[in-house]
Parts: sequence; C-alpha cells; structure tokens
Amino acid sequence: MTGWSNWMQSLTGFEQQKSLRRAPSAGYMDLLGNDYPYSTSALTGKHALVCGASKGIGAATAKMLAKAGADVTVCARNEEALKQLCQELETLGSGHHQTMVLDLEDTESIRGAVSELLQQRGTVHILINNAGGPPGGPLLENTLGDFDAPFKRHLYASHTLTQLITPGMEQDGYGRIVQIISTSVKEPIPNIGLSNTLRGAMASWAKSLSRELPPCITINNVLPGFTNTERLGSLASSINQRTGKSVEEVHDGWMSQVPIERLIEPLETASAITFLTLPASGGIRGVSLAVDGGRLRGI
Ligand code: NAD
Repeated sequence: MTGWSNWMQSLTGFEQQKSLRRAPSAGYMDLLGNDYPYSTSALTGKHALVCGASKGIGAATAKMLAKAGADVTVCARNEEALKQLCQELETLGSGHHQTMVLDLEDTESIRGAVSELLQQRGTVHILINNAGGPPGGPLLENTLGDFDAPFKRHLYASHTLTQLITPGMEQDGYGRIVQIISTSVKEPIPNIGLSNTLRGAMASWAKSLSRELPPCITINNVLPGFTNTERLGSLASSINQRTGKSVEEVHDGWMSQVPIERLIEPLETASAITFLTLPASGGIRGVSLAVDGGRLRGI
C-alpha cells in the first residue's frame, strides 16, 4: 500500500469522499496489466540496474522494466524489501532478477558491488540513478556537513556507477542512463534549497555527459512532480507538524498548482522512464522530462 493510501485510510469517510472527488486518480489504469504501454519483449536480453528500488518510483520502474522483458538488478539498503520485489518481478516478465544490497552513500561499497555484478551478470545496459531526496528547510540554516550525504548518494553514486558501467555499454553497443531527480531543476521549490542545489548539480552533470558519452549511450533525466509515494505522505505529515496546517490543506495547496488536479502514480513516472530506455529512444539525449501533471509554468 502506498504512503498516500495510508494517509487516505486515516481520514474519516466524509473526508475520503471529499478527497476522492477533488483528486480523481489514475488508478483506473492497469499499467502492469492490460494497459501496459510497451511490448513485453522490448527489453529482452537487456540488463537493468535500478537504484533506490525498494519502494516508490524506483520500485515501479523495476516492475515496468521487468514487464518489458529486461533482467533487473534492484539496489537499495533494505534486503528484505528487495527480495520481495524480486519475487514480484519474476511474475511480471521473462527476465532473471537479483538484488544488490548497498548504501549509495558508501562509494567504496559501490565499486566492490558493481565489479562483482559485472563479473557475475555481465554488462549493465540500463542504469537508473535514484535515491531518497534530501531533507527540507531553509537553505541558510544548512551547514556544510548537511550537503555531504545527499551529494554522496546522488551525485557521487551516479558518477561512480556511470564510470564503472559505461565501458560495458559501449562494448555491447547499447546504453541508457536515466536519473530520477525533480522539477526543481527547472524551477527551484521554496524551502527545499538543499534539494534544489543538488538537483541542479545532477542535471548539469547529466547534460555535460550527454556531450561526452559514446553515440550508443544516451543519458536523460526524469523530473517527478507530486507523486503518490511514501515520501510525499511523510512530507505532508512533517508540514502538518511544523505549520499546523492539516494534511488535507497541504494536499489542497499542492493540487491547486497541478492542472491535472491529482497526484501522479509512480507507475506513470516509471512508464516515462521505461520509454527513455527503449531502443527506439536512441535519439533522445540530454533532456529533462517532467512528469508533473503540468505543474511547471516554464515552456
Ligand atoms: P522514496 O523515498 O519513496 O524512495 C527512495 C528510494 O531510495 C528507496 O528505495 C530508498 O530505500 C532508497 N534510498 C534512499 N537512500 C539510499 C541510500 N543511501 N542507499 C541506497 N538506497 C537508498 O522516493 P520517491 O518518492 O520514489 O522519489 C524518488 C526520487 O524522486 C527522490 O530523489 C525524490 O526526492 C524525487 N522526487 C520525488 C517526488 C515525489 O512526489 N514523490 C517529487 C519530486 C522529486
């Protein structure tokens, strides 16, 4: 069950009805079933490494890629959650899946684990760079030390993984790298300055690499908007504790910024990510694609 569903369950029946009326969901789509948008053999023979895969958008991406026939290695710190996800992946597609238990803040561990993975399973053709977002709050209150962990698990981890994995991609003539970052790349979001700073660095890093990587390897970013994951549920709770605004008011404030008037489902974001990993997407390179229901105002 998602974070937002947990929140919905905590509401009274009347509040739930109001919320459901206000925010029509995308739940009518069965994106891993009848509404799956791609061929179930589109990525057969391709090996994908999905970071931050134990929940949220990362887990949804692992499922979408497995459904397309890829062999998926799922990476995060929580071994139990990854094992459960692997069992689900087995039911979705024809590929073979495995876990890679790792703290992305530990650069040396990344080097060791990826060397082992490449030896055991061969080339990684699809790399999804993703990890948990930094804490919010005014940027002026952040110490230099506050930057360390988020920069390690995002920028340093993505750079290390890319350096280790791209030689194999080049040798096999196929590489797709996608970062899951944030719309703050285009419009910084108030009160999460540390995150804005990090996301900007990630986007510049990826754009620079899009000019350096061999022709067969693409690199692109996906920018989630308000997405129905645990992270958003806990963000609403912490705003409630800090400001006294009810969780429903917080949700209303968010939805008033979004033309589609609802949260994005993680599988919708994963669908855009999967599209960027397909052979047919080889001409898309160095873009930042928002999946935000139209929240960004810039062209
Ligand atoms: P999430 O918090 O639900 O999931 C993050 C994943 O990263 C989890 O699997 C977690 O275990 C893993 N992770 C965190 N730290 C790690 C570490 N040190 N080592 C290994 N794994 C680690 O996040 P989400 O909602 O799925 O979002 C994915 C990304 O998109 C995040 O960077 C988030 O900030 C960003 N984003 C999310 C939203 C949203 O509304 N959900 C909006 C904008 C941006």
